[in-house]
Amino acid sequence: MKVLIVDDSRMYLSMLDAYIQDMGHQTILANSGKEAIALYQSDEPDLILLDVTMPDMDGYEVAQHIRDCPRRVWVPIIFLSALVEDKDILRGIEAGGDDYITKPASQVMIQAKVQAMQRIAKMSQKLIKTSAKLQKANQKLQSLSLLDGLTQIANRRCFDTTLHQEWSRAVRNQTSLSLMLIDIDHFKLYNDCYGHQQGDACLIEVAQTLKKHRKRPSDLVARYGGEEFVVIFPDCKAEALQGIAQQLCNTIQDLNIPHADSPTHACISISIGVSNQTPQRGSNQEQLIKAADLALYKAKREGRNRVCYNDENIENVTPS
Ligand code: GH3
Ligand code: MG
Ligand code: MG
Repeated sequence: MKVLIVDDSRMYLSMLDAYIQDMGHQTILANSGKEAIALYQSDEPDLILLDVTMPDMDGYEVAQHIRDCPRRVWVPIIFLSALVEDKDILRGIEAGGDDYITKPASQVMIQAKVQAMQRIAKMSQKLIKTSAKLQKANQKLQSLSLLDGLTQIANRRCFDTTLHQEWSRAVRNQTSLSLMLIDIDHFKLYNDCYGHQQGDACLIEVAQTLKKHRKRPSDLVARYGGEEFVVIFPDCKAEALQGIAQQLCNTIQDLNIPHADSPTHACISISIGVSNQTPQRGSNQEQLIKAADLALYKAKREGRNRVCYNDENIENVTPS
């Protein structure tokens, strides 16, 4: 342990230095309050033995200064003083000291107090480390709870939370919000033909491709459930949206994942339903999902591997 010893008396300083070195600790010596503060910052001691009565700056002031310094770890301060009245001791503790030894004090007394304080400091450091580890584990848990285990993209929970936030933001700013519901075509037949494991691999590839081809980091790609995915586009222009949707359809087709049993295409394809609204106060996001769902239904009906819109600016889809 590094111990900073502060005393304006050279005799006392060298005596304390000997006591602390005798315990096997490293010492840093300061003659004045100002020097103590500088050494506290440059040498980062683990414990401070602090005299009270000093000419330029007294020990109380030094302690207060140290407590105001933005250092993350707590460093114990033990006062050593010839001032022995209750009010002096109280002042020392209130200034940020952790213990107060009155002079003259025996070697055993000083060493015992330092030893006890070291034990508390060690416990405090252990607590800080444990809490940092816990915080890290919590962050990891939090991000895992928002991730889909199979495809490693955002899960339904993450989608629900994000959509709620984006909807509120769009209401506040009166900006548009768009949604794409994406469904793999004839995926049941794919599973039946190639097996569930290959079905899983296909889901992963499609999910990762969709994620890779989103336009902005704020566009959330999530697994909506089963072989359905969803993308949220905050504040995206209708024309841009059409371009992106068609591009996603083409990109999945270009993966050329064979689907021999598909009645519509020879490889894996997707159908996309797009909805776009500028939400009004008092409305809710369910409307946006419902609108995208209707558009997706239309895309399926019209032959799959295509994009249909339910956009207040493009076309209105009516269910049949
Ligand atoms: P459509 O073109 O109309 O969408 O037909 P579809 O066969 O894709 O749709 P349907 O809803 O009938 O079937 C979806 C299939 O997706 C059935 C289900 O077994 C499969 N599926 C859902 N989740 C998973 C998964 O995690 N892994 C695998 N391998 N298959 C899944
Ligand atoms: Mg489906
Ligand atoms: Mg499907």
